[in-house]
Amino acid sequence: MSLPAAVYRPRHPQDSDYYHCVEDYFETFVQGYDEQFSRQYGFWRPYIEQVIYRYLDCGDLQHGFARVKCKDCGHEYLLAFSCKRRHFCPSCHQKRVVEFGERLCMEVLKKIPHRHFVFSIPKILRRYFLYDRKLLAALSRCAWESLKGFIQDAVPENDPIPGAVIAMQTFGDFLGFNPHCHILVTDGCFYGEKGMFRVAPPLELKKLEALFRHNVFKMLLAKGKITRELIAMHSSWKHSGFHVFCGNRISPNDDTAMENLARYIIRASFSQERMQYLDDVGQVVYTGKDRKTNKVFPAMEWLAAMCTHIPNRGEQMVRYYGYYSNVARGKRQKAGNDAAVPCILETQGNEKAFRKSWARLIQKIYEVDPLICPKCQGKMRVISAIDDRQVIRAILEHLSIWLVRSRPPPKIHDPPIREYAAADLQIQPLNDTIYGDPEYTWDEYIQS
Ligand SMILES: [Zn+2]
Ligand SMILES: [Zn+2]
Repeated sequence: MSLPAAVYRPRHPQDSDYYHCVEDYFETFVQGYDEQFSRQYGFWRPYIEQVIYRYLDCGDLQHGFARVKCKDCGHEYLLAFSCKRRHFCPSCHQKRVVEFGERLCMEVLKKIPHRHFVFSIPKILRRYFLYDRKLLAALSRCAWESLKGFIQDAVPENDPIPGAVIAMQTFGDFLGFNPHCHILVTDGCFYGEKGMFRVAPPLELKKLEALFRHNVFKMLLAKGKITRELIAMHSSWKHSGFHVFCGNRISPNDDTAMENLARYIIRASFSQERMQYLDDVGQVVYTGKDRKTNKVFPAMEWLAAMCTHIPNRGEQMVRYYGYYSNVARGKRQKAGNDAAVPCILETQGNEKAFRKSWARLIQKIYEVDPLICPKCQGKMRVISAIDDRQVIRAILEHLSIWLVRSRPPPKIHDPPIREYAAADLQIQPLNDTIYGDPEYTWDEYIQS
């Protein structure tokens, strides 16, 4: 067997504050969750443990890799497998975000004007969703039903059909549990046989909000979560806590705005650049979106808050409605009047699809092409995927990068003795954008 001369992998993912924090606390966290956190952060979900473990091993060559080889000069490198889990692994989530934006714009959304809506609910109702995540699907449906009726009423044609993509987000600025719907909706309706589209006038948001409120209460009542008394009490409040936001019209030609928005609606629940881990006191300082406000968490509590935003295995967080529903798109395709290829998003990608797309995605994120040979500029390709323990070890030993790395036992910290005033802390200058994360620049790492 000819052996590769280099490896290719993210630059030191294990050096981040985030990684250290997870590594130091995950075991104690998993063991102590029920007692310490389930009351405030929801029931323990065993799937969370898997997500954490997979994250800790993500991008680690010792857990398997692909061999990538240049056809022209034979130059070869190894590419570690990644965990592909949502919302906990920053690197994998980001790849997913970019892929989603691209697919949405190329395969789902039509070249017509769109709008961005956000539907949110009052504090008093949020906990029901924390303890019963199935309600998130019902909330998405409530938002769609409310919006659909309004847009249909706004156009004069018969049988008008709007289309929407609704992404559920569960996080607020400081990782609090705040379920809300991000909606990309057609700014008007399709009608007739030939895919005609009628743009709608601006909607009356206060009326839309009232309808949404009605639909959400009806749904929670039907599911036995709330009583009529609670609804009556709530109706007497001056501020309902329900809110509907509507953004500006996005023109059909503004591909960049559309793709950025598509990425935004499925963005990760936290920003690694905004977290600082103080390992000596076991605390996390988290900076708000405004880059000014800080919140200090005990490390385990920060993890507990983070974990409330991890979807269950296979849990759908994005749904397609009306003209953009899978059924409608399927029908149009069958009839040959929809150029789009059906794609079911939000599935766990399989290894094969991953191998096809990672190069393109990496190129898009990091502006380097991992399939261009650094030696001769020739074309490289994935020649095999290695997941056999013995072969992994043989190759890594040959490259002198086999480390007998058993994870050190987690540190058990005493409870923090002093509170940090946020202003005392030197927060490092922040320069991330949500979508371009300089810490994950892929680079050629080792030459043997
Ligand atoms: Zn080459
Ligand atoms: Zn990962």
